[in-house]
Amino acid sequence: MNTPLIDPFARAINYLRVSVTDRCDFRCVYCMSENMSFLPKAELLTLEELDRMCSTFIGMGVEKLRITGGEPLVRKGIMTFFEGMARHLQSGGLRELTLTTNGSQLRKYAADLAACGVRRINVSLDTLDDAKFAKITRWGRLAQVLDGIAAAKEAGLRVKINVVALKGFNEDELFTLTDWCAAEDHDLTFIEVMPMGDLGNEDRLDQYWSLKDLRARLSERFTVTELTERTGGPARYVRLEETGQKLGFITPLTHNFCESCNRVRLTCTGELYMCLGQEDMADLRAPLRASADNAVLESAIRAAILRKPKGHDFDYSRQRTDGQMTRHMSHTGG
Ligand code: SAM
Repeated sequence: MNTPLIDPFARAINYLRVSVTDRCDFRCVYCMSENMSFLPKAELLTLEELDRMCSTFIGMGVEKLRITGGEPLVRKGIMTFFEGMARHLQSGGLRELTLTTNGSQLRKYAADLAACGVRRINVSLDTLDDAKFAKITRWGRLAQVLDGIAAAKEAGLRVKINVVALKGFNEDELFTLTDWCAAEDHDLTFIEVMPMGDLGNEDRLDQYWSLKDLRARLSERFTVTELTERTGGPARYVRLEETGQKLGFITPLTHNFCESCNRVRLTCTGELYMCLGQEDMADLRAPLRASADNAVLESAIRAAILRKPKGHDFDYSRQRTDGQMTRHMSHTGG
């Protein structure tokens, strides 16, 4: 292996989140507008390029790879990519290969993912009510997702459910979702909604529900014990003593985790974002395409990591108006 990636603040970068597509089969109201225009295909890294990019990072010390999107499982031929990454699990270069998905394609792919060495997956699911699910995802069908989750379980995958906490939308399902996850033995994480600007929703829900409030509600019914466990990201964990469940809370807008930040994010066009809250990015597609020799790419990666800032600093004035949480949420996606 090459010298590991260490940023200017002595943080080892061993976690890469990769968006493999900007496309999605859902149109969640807090994430995308209904009429999205997607990137032309030539802009995207090919599956071979994604493999080369990820393999280079793994050679430089990345041990955990999370695949996200858009919806990663709608990328054509994506299983070829997972099959390729399996070799790094086998060699021990990679410790974990995982993904964040909306669950719609899991019936089709869960067994193959497990065969590639995926052990745990995050599935985004904000409600257990059919009509509400259709409303929030616009194009999704709850039954299909629940069936996908069942398929994941059958394939032996550990499932973590990611719920975006939405005021007036799933507040009333706090205990239903918690109980369902306990009964199904799924892990559960709540995500605080991030402002996305105007996504063209006529009935834009005024959705912000603070996780502080959510937690206070939980403690009306459960004894909530804070856990010290940290993952280098924005998640904090608690245990519900009565059920033994471990729950996560992700507050993307806080920055009390920056000191232990171990991650960077790659978009499907090969842009590397060094920090969730800052716009600085490095184009890795040009150096990747410039030469078949990885040396050029490696030095571009090292130069980018040297630009990783100490912490993030959200600037609400630059909320996106074109829709899509792809890049930002590839951070929090769980
Ligand atoms: N399609 C995949 C999925 O549904 O999980 C992966 C991409 S999706 C953008 C990743 C995560 O971001 C999902 O859990 C989604 O709910 C979350 N997300 C999207 N927009 C968000 C927002 N405005 N605030 C908080 N979480 C958001």
